[in-house]
Amino acid sequence: MTDHHPRADPEQRQGDSCDPEVYGVWILGDQLNIRHPALQALEDRLGSARARHSCRVLLIESSSVLNRQAFHRQKLVLVWSAMRHFAIELERCGWQVERIETSSFSTALEHWTSRHGLVELHLMEPADRPFRAKIHATVQQLASKNPLQVHWHPSNAFLWSRDAFACWAQRYRQPRMEFFYRESRKRFNVLMEGDQPLGGQWNYDHDNRKAPPRDLQPPQPLSFEPDSITEAVINRVEALDRQRTASGLVPLPGVSRPFRWGVNRDQALQVLEHFIQTRLDGFGPYQDAMVRGQSTLWHALLSPYLNLGLLHPWEVIRRLESAGLERGTPPASLEGVLRQILGWREYTHGLYHWLGADYPTLNHFNAHSPLPSWLEQLSPCGMSCLDTVLGEIHSSGYAHHIQRLMVLANYGLLAGLDPQAFTAWFHRMFIDGFDWVMQTNVLGMGLFADGGRLASKPYAASGSYINRMSNYCKACRYDPKQRTGELACPFNVLYWDFLARHANRLRGNPRMALMIRQLDRMPSEELQAIRLRAASHLERPVPNG
Ligand code: SF4
Repeated sequence: MTDHHPRADPEQRQGDSCDPEVYGVWILGDQLNIRHPALQALEDRLGSARARHSCRVLLIESSSVLNRQAFHRQKLVLVWSAMRHFAIELERCGWQVERIETSSFSTALEHWTSRHGLVELHLMEPADRPFRAKIHATVQQLASKNPLQVHWHPSNAFLWSRDAFACWAQRYRQPRMEFFYRESRKRFNVLMEGDQPLGGQWNYDHDNRKAPPRDLQPPQPLSFEPDSITEAVINRVEALDRQRTASGLVPLPGVSRPFRWGVNRDQALQVLEHFIQTRLDGFGPYQDAMVRGQSTLWHALLSPYLNLGLLHPWEVIRRLESAGLERGTPPASLEGVLRQILGWREYTHGLYHWLGADYPTLNHFNAHSPLPSWLEQLSPCGMSCLDTVLGEIHSSGYAHHIQRLMVLANYGLLAGLDPQAFTAWFHRMFIDGFDWVMQTNVLGMGLFADGGRLASKPYAASGSYINRMSNYCKACRYDPKQRTGELACPFNVLYWDFLARHANRLRGNPRMALMIRQLDRMPSEELQAIRLRAASHLERPVPNG
C-alpha cells in the first residue's frame, strides 16, 4: 500500500485521449458529502470531465455489522437510504457510481477493484477509530495482492482538523470545552465583534435551563414521507431482521415504520430552514426541558444530517448566524445552538482523536454491571422517565441531549453499568450515533469513566433534577421526594448509593464537596436502608456496614 499523491502534468493530462478506468473512490456511509475530498482531489488532478469519465465510485451497503451488533432499524434505514439517494445525486453530477448490497464489504471491495482493474483506490479517513482499523486492514490486504495504490484523504467533515485540535489541546493541562469554544468563535469569527463576543457575553447557558411550564406548546418538527427508495430499504431491513431471528439472534431494536427522517441533502437543507423559521428563536430557554409526548421540543434535529455528511458544519453555522442576526433571534438562543455545533460537536470529535486509542478502556469507577434486558430491548422498566425516553428511542432512534445525559447516562453512572457496553448501546440505538460521538459523550461526559479528562465532575443527579426539569414524575409509580421505602424513586436510591460507594474518590473533587457533605450528614440507618434498596434494585449483594 502506498500513500502518495502523484501529480500529472496538466499539458499531458489534456493530451490523454482514452483513459483506462483505473481510479476508484470508495465512499463510506457517513461521508455523503458532494464535496468529498477524494472526488475533489481527482477533479483537481485530472480535470472535472476526465475525473468523471475515468473514476468509478463505490458505495457498499454491508449487513456484516449486524452479525456483531444489533443496530436500531431507523438508523439502518437512514444510512442506507441516504447512501442510495447520494449515489443518484452523484450520478446526476456525471460520476459513475456502483452501489453494492453485500454481507461482506471486504469481498465486495475485492471483486469491485479487480472487475474494474483499478490501480488507485481513494478514500477519506473514517471518523470512527474501530472502523478505520478494519478498513485499513482490508485495504492493506487488498493492496498486498494487487498492484493497487491507496490514497487516504484527510477528512473535511469538521472545521478543526485533527492536527489543529492537537495543537490547541496540548497548550492546556485540562483542555476544557469552554476554552475551546471561545477559541473557535475567534478562529472562525462567529458571533464576534472584533476580538470580543457579540453582545459582550460568551455564554448564555444560565438562561437556557428553564423548567417546562404546564402548557408548553412546542412547534412540530418537519418530517418526510418515505419515497420508493426508502421503502425498499425498509423492506431490506425487515428481511434482514427476519433472517436474524430465524437464526436465533435477537431482533433488531426499534421499529422501521413510521419513518420520518430526511434522507438526502435537499431534505436536510429543508430541516435547517424549517428550524430557523419555527424554532431557532425559542431554542434557548427550554433546551434542558423534558416533556412527555413532546420528544423534540425546540431541538434542531440536525445532528443526523451533519454526522452523515449531508450538511457541512460550516454552511450550517454561517446560515444560522446570518439568519439569527437578521431575525433578531434572542442571543441566548442563537449562541446556544451555535455552541452545540461550533463548540461541542467539534470539541468532542477533536478530543476523541486526541485522547487516543486507549480512551475507551478507561473505567474510573470500576463499573462492570451488564446492561439490563429492558435497555437492550427498549422495553418498559416501570420508571416513567426511562420508559418515556426508551419509548421515543424505540419509535424514532432519537432522544435529545438532556434525555441522553440526565436520564439515560445518569442511570448508567448511578447503576454502575459497564462503560463500553453502554457506549456501544448509545452508538447502536441513536440515529446520529457513531463511535466518535459516543466515546466522549457517553464514556466521558455521561459516565465520567475517564476520571475527568472531559468533564470537571460526574453528572450524577437524583430524581429531584428529573422532577424539576420534566413532567415525567407525575405519571410515575415512584415518588421523586422519597429516598427510602417502597415508593422511593430509584434515581434517589441509586444516587445516594453511588455517592456512598465512591465517597473516597469523590471527596477529592471540589465540585462534589456539597453532595459529600450531605452524605456525611445522613443518619447511618437511613443510608443503610437506601443501600439495601439499591442492592435490591440492581440485584447486587447487600453492602456491608
Ligand atoms: Fe424517574 Fe423517579 Fe421521577 Fe419516576 S419518580 S419518573 S423514576 S425520576
